[in-house]
Amino acid sequence: MSPLIRAVIDSHALRHNLRVIRARAAGARVIAVVKANAYGHGLAGTALALDEADALAVARLEEALALRAAGIGTRIVLLEGVFSLAELAEAIYERLDLVVHDASQIELLERLPEASARCPLWVKIDTGMNRLGFPPREFPAALARLRGLSSPPREIRLVTHLACANEREDEVTRAQLQRFRAATHGLEYEVSIANSAALFGAVPTGCHWVRPGLALYGASPFADCDAGSLGLLPVMTLMSSVIAVRHIARGESVGYGGRWAAPQDSAIAIVAAGYGDGVHRSLANGAVVLVNGVRAPLVGSVSMDMLAVDVSELPGVRVGAPVVLWGEGLPVEETARCAGTIAYELLCSVSPRVPLEPR
Ligand SMILES: *Cc1c(COP(=O)(O)O)cnc(C)c1O
Repeated sequence: MSPLIRAVIDSHALRHNLRVIRARAAGARVIAVVKANAYGHGLAGTALALDEADALAVARLEEALALRAAGIGTRIVLLEGVFSLAELAEAIYERLDLVVHDASQIELLERLPEASARCPLWVKIDTGMNRLGFPPREFPAALARLRGLSSPPREIRLVTHLACANEREDEVTRAQLQRFRAATHGLEYEVSIANSAALFGAVPTGCHWVRPGLALYGASPFADCDAGSLGLLPVMTLMSSVIAVRHIARGESVGYGGRWAAPQDSAIAIVAAGYGDGVHRSLANGAVVLVNGVRAPLVGSVSMDMLAVDVSELPGVRVGAPVVLWGEGLPVEETARCAGTIAYELLCSVSPRVPLEPR
């Protein structure tokens, strides 16, 4: 018997999206961002499906080690770099690319000279996001210190990250790009700037390496345009089934707290999906799901293992009917809007008890 709730992963869509991104990237190399379990899509499986990517990127060392343990030999960029000598030693051993965003990381490189000879370095400049990176006024000294390492770095690249690329024609983005150009003026290094939003956004960034995450998974980073219109296909379809159908009279309520009362005699389908699976409780605020492929609204509170759907308008819904929570036919962006969050968060929240199933 197939499990009730499962996240069906379409690796064909993943490869399709990579091709769309590559066309959009105009010759830039593509770093596929697979942090956070590949945005909930399964780290190793996603990396294997994306074998045409020029590099992979993860946030933490453990994620990189898991990729290497899965036999993946592609270049891996550690987006937050390393935080101890022990981590640096592992990074050397596993041939990882390191982002260097803080003076303490330069100190580690000074203490372990073979690192800079073995690990390509991506020096991060903070151009206004104020999260990671050397502020422009500190960057020249940081770069000089790296160039002066006892074993000079084999490869140096320069990176920055944009805070508002999902807002079209955004002045913040223009200002960040301006600061980046000023800080890197006259330097011959390759650069990496664009995330998904910058890749598909209106402000051209112009860089040698792009770093898409969300777009790979077939979701749009923009509020005003869905992934379909960017040519992207959804990769994850979160599916479950109806496990009970109840017929309730007008005025009766459903679920914990009795937060919803039937405005008329209603048919309610109970679906095996809840916040224990990563289906946010805030979805109760007007989200829809597909039952037998047809849209139907959630009613009442989402519980840990179940949620309720009003199927009064859908005749013939029975136990076993398939339910799509998001994915094919129901963009995760739409569901995220109902939940007052973003697609990133819903995708990453799918909990470990939900099996990932190749399509
Ligand atoms: C997560 C991340 C990305 C990918 O961002 P998307 O919006 O998912 O495309 C790129 N660069 C850095 C530094 C990141 O942390």
